[in-house]
Amino acid sequence: FALYQVKSKRSSGVEFFSSDHEKILTQRHLIELELQANDFASELKLDYQPIIELKSGRVVGYEALARWDSARFGRISPEAFIPAAERTAVIGRMTRILFAQALEALAIMPKHLRLSFNLSARDICDHETSMALLAMITRSGVDPRRIEFEITETALLSDFDTADQVISMLRAAGISIALDDFGTGFSSLSHIHRLAFDKLKIDKGFVMNFDRDARCMSITRSVANLCQNLGIASVAEGVESEEIADGLKAIGVRLAQGYYFSRPLPLELAIDYAARCESAVSARNSLSA
Ligand code: C2E
Ligand code: MG
Ligand code: MG
Ligand code: MG
Repeated sequence: FALYQVKSKRSSGVEFFSSDHEKILTQRHLIELELQANDFASELKLDYQPIIELKSGRVVGYEALARWDSARFGRISPEAFIPAAERTAVIGRMTRILFAQALEALAIMPKHLRLSFNLSARDICDHETSMALLAMITRSGVDPRRIEFEITETALLSDFDTADQVISMLRAAGISIALDDFGTGFSSLSHIHRLAFDKLKIDKGFVMNFDRDARCMSITRSVANLCQNLGIASVAEGVESEEIADGLKAIGVRLAQGYYFSRPLPLELAIDYAARCESAVSARNSLSA
């Protein structure tokens, strides 16, 4: 939780928080207040984490990840401010601000690269937000087939029918949909059965322990097989070592992202990274030719 500065900004010497629980509640409340009191638009940005095709070593696209550098609190984790934005109903506006940046990035990125953008549960259960996102894509002139929305299963629990309708509408427009953090929370095979996903993202909890824990390995292998049988792509997130990358490739996972390849980066650096991977692949191919 990246809000340790909170305490020091209060009057000095006073023990403001009485327990960890209270501290967390206070921090939550302070983020909510900050979202409502000040305009966060200029403080939000996206970083871009490369997504690698394991077989070729090429970058196929990026995941856009939100960053908030608050003038008051410093950097706050999306794990903290996205739920706060959902609770205070500013999420719709926040999503539009971030998505506008994502579309600008897509216009600059090489045309063969795609961008994955996270939608919150509130976004995917809201016709108004999804219509607004579609209109933004049309206005930007970006090819919708370069865009993927990531959603989590929590989003499906609150209002399945609306989420179903919104997902169908987005897919009809050419956008692909990935199920994020698969295997955590409220995973259900009926979700995969009832909704058409283009991709499953295997949660980093399984991937990170892949080489040390036989059960994580089995679960990851099963999800990779499930994806192959369904004819959809699998992505492993949280790949932190070469051993894990090699192991995932061996069991047929198609795509991967993680600190081993690259951390989330500012746009220019993310574009450079993809170009360097392309050169490395070309150099290897001309050597073996
Ligand atoms: P997520 O969509 O599952 O994103 C993956 C998270 O794993 C990111 O955390 C990423 O920085 C982190 N990660 C990537 N590679 C590694 C690795 O090798 N090791 C480890 N330990 N972590 C890795 P981040 O950026 O803090 O984002 C956290 C969550 O916040 C995201 O999880 C997503 O649910 C949410 N989020 C981020 N940006 C947005 C956004 O623009 N909109 C919405 N609605 N949610 C967002
Ligand atoms: Mg994601
Ligand atoms: Mg994830
Ligand atoms: Mg996550």
